[in-house]
Amino acid sequence: MKVNIISLTCCAGCISSFLNAGEAFLEILSEDFQIVYSPTFIDLKEIPKVDLAIVEGGIKTEEDEKLVREVRAKSEFLIALGICATHGGITSLGNIFSVKKLLEKEYSILKGTKLPELKDLMYPICNFVDVDYYIPGCPPMPFLIVHTLKSIVNRKQPIRYQSVVCTECHRRIMPAKLDRLYGIYEKEADPKLCLVSQGFVCLGSLTRDGCGAPCPRAGFTCFGCRGPADSLMYRSRDMYSFLVKVISKRTGVQEESVREELYRNPFIFHTFIFSRFERFKSRERII
Ligand code: SF4
Ligand code: SF4
Ligand code: SF4
Repeated sequence: MKVNIISLTCCAGCISSFLNAGEAFLEILSEDFQIVYSPTFIDLKEIPKVDLAIVEGGIKTEEDEKLVREVRAKSEFLIALGICATHGGITSLGNIFSVKKLLEKEYSILKGTKLPELKDLMYPICNFVDVDYYIPGCPPMPFLIVHTLKSIVNRKQPIRYQSVVCTECHRRIMPAKLDRLYGIYEKEADPKLCLVSQGFVCLGSLTRDGCGAPCPRAGFTCFGCRGPADSLMYRSRDMYSFLVKVISKRTGVQEESVREELYRNPFIFHTFIFSRFERFKSRERII
């Protein structure tokens, strides 16, 4: 199987995660898998026709759109790798500003530099081309990438994860009576108790499982890098209100106060709250 690997607007961390698969990565290469185009690994100017394209990053520039359309036209299957590609990801935080304000306020240092033409928002790639498989994560776990690639090579459907991170977390969920929420560095966390029950803002109850909950297991809050679980993507689009209700119920803090604190709390990465994913046609394609 011939493969193109492409990076759009992103940090390139997803391709690094792919390399972190170690021996499993070498195993894939020795199987039916040949990388023929990748600006990270290979110096080749023309994008060739291939069986599979792996695309990391989202669409923020006109150049991104042009590139992803060309890549799609030249491949049989296409994987959106990482939450920038699948949902817009952390780079979508720029969506809270207009392009004008973003350039003036955040990138004033680049004044006078010729920049690529920016789109109004950061978009996931499915807003412009058909996607065959989505592997969300920031970056996705190496084992999820390897499993998906092996499944495609063997013409099998990869395993799908449809529940939430809380189902993979060993912490006990208990209702509490707290007077406020806490930043993760403000107090020591009980290693056995749900972080939300202790007043920390963990997004595990909204976020797609499959990662094995490494963050709450290590004592850090889940920031939602696997994107919303299926149930949240279609039944209710108001994820913020859902999160407020969960936190209020587990902490005993009034919903209004939770809402106010969420906007103020610097420990929350609003990764998918600001993301866009209108064109997901099929949940079956999300790993
Ligand atoms: S999903 Fe995360 S790791 Fe991957 S490119 Fe985007 S910001 Fe980087
Ligand atoms: S909210 Fe976070 S800490 Fe609590 S059970 Fe879910 S993943 Fe674990
Ligand atoms: S626990 Fe949350 S932030 Fe950590 S890897 Fe899983 S989805 Fe991403």
